[in-house]
Amino acid sequence: MWQRRTIRLAIALSIGLLLTAALVALAGAYAEEPITFRDPTTDQTSDVEVSTIHTDLTYVLALAAGFSITDSRTLMIWDQLVDANVITTTNTSYSNCSGTFPPPIVRCQGNTDSLFWPAWGQVASTGDGRSCVTSRYGPFEGFFHFPHRNGPEMAALKAWGWGAGQQLVGYQGYVWGPNLSEVTSFFGHTCMLTEPVTIDTGMPPGSLEAFATYIHSLADSYSHERCQEKTDALGWAWPTHTYPYPPSTDAERIYECNYAPTGHLQNIGDSHHGREFGTEWPEDSDRTDAAVRAVYAELAARSSQREGVYQPLSLDTPLQGITHSLTLSETLSHFVHDWNFDQPAERRKYADQMAAAILAQRTPRAAGAPAQPEPSPQALPATGGRIPRPTGILLAGLALVAAGLLLLQVQRTF
Ligand SMILES: [Zn+2]
Ligand SMILES: [Zn+2]
Repeated sequence: MWQRRTIRLAIALSIGLLLTAALVALAGAYAEEPITFRDPTTDQTSDVEVSTIHTDLTYVLALAAGFSITDSRTLMIWDQLVDANVITTTNTSYSNCSGTFPPPIVRCQGNTDSLFWPAWGQVASTGDGRSCVTSRYGPFEGFFHFPHRNGPEMAALKAWGWGAGQQLVGYQGYVWGPNLSEVTSFFGHTCMLTEPVTIDTGMPPGSLEAFATYIHSLADSYSHERCQEKTDALGWAWPTHTYPYPPSTDAERIYECNYAPTGHLQNIGDSHHGREFGTEWPEDSDRTDAAVRAVYAELAARSSQREGVYQPLSLDTPLQGITHSLTLSETLSHFVHDWNFDQPAERRKYADQMAAAILAQRTPRAAGAPAQPEPSPQALPATGGRIPRPTGILLAGLALVAAGLLLLQVQRTF
């Protein structure tokens, strides 16, 4: 059972070619920066560009929250995999492509236009047919990368990430546009549909991998918050980025959905989240602070209640290994605001200093905490794949009720 929504917008469509380029550049929140993945286990690099928010800083936050080194690595890798899907280094390949896509949505009644979204050509699959369901180009782009923080998407992801909800109930989205151009923008769509579905990610509910996926989406919900308000007002079924490729006009861009700073427009692939670091666009970079704090709060809660082996540091904790013993909170602010989008190497270097300082002053959890030996930083598998502890009949019952309510809400919302 699903709900249809057809919206026609009277905006010109002379942008097919340009949007071919835009499609290539489309990316999830806290977009990839000009820096590549560095394997935390082996220090080998990959040619996959990553976000320093989803990788380096997530590792730092996980350590500060009290997770073991191994678990902190798992969290950072699986957080980045929500965007990257596959990361291959010389010796290792990480992938979250173990899900399956649901049957496609049937197009709107009478619509003969071309399918614009999902961009199946860019959605990777594995050799055995398993799929990268978190793909930024797939039918779950909106669900994983543009979730409403106070909406059913984040509620579902949170329940699933913590293991309170055994099923991840979300929605898939499809867009059709005119046959004239192979690619049209969301602006020119003649049919934009969503339908509620149970998403098979292949990840066990409540696992660290699922939790990492949840905190990725949580961060993205801050990054895309203003964009979301705009596209909601336009009646779009979900938000996405919009780009002012010439000769398209201002009518074809939504400022809030195009984070490329002025002067970077010719290099959109590198800078479409360019406003979210530094100090020049406080409206955008302040949301990054908020995202970092929200992610840290969830990591600290998770660590305390489950896998953590050290006490979470308070944000006011002075980090002795950092110049002037800045507090954790102050260092996080420096990470976000001291360098611009195109200075990720500086951010990584600073994150390394933060990690060293945090590792030097963590204190083990009090007696009664789950015993988990702290691994040495070397020679350990970087991913855990841990299965969560059973949450009990009460939680399962609650989850069923929550899932039912959620489904109702999803049907109303989309
Ligand atoms: Zn994303
Ligand atoms: Zn984005």
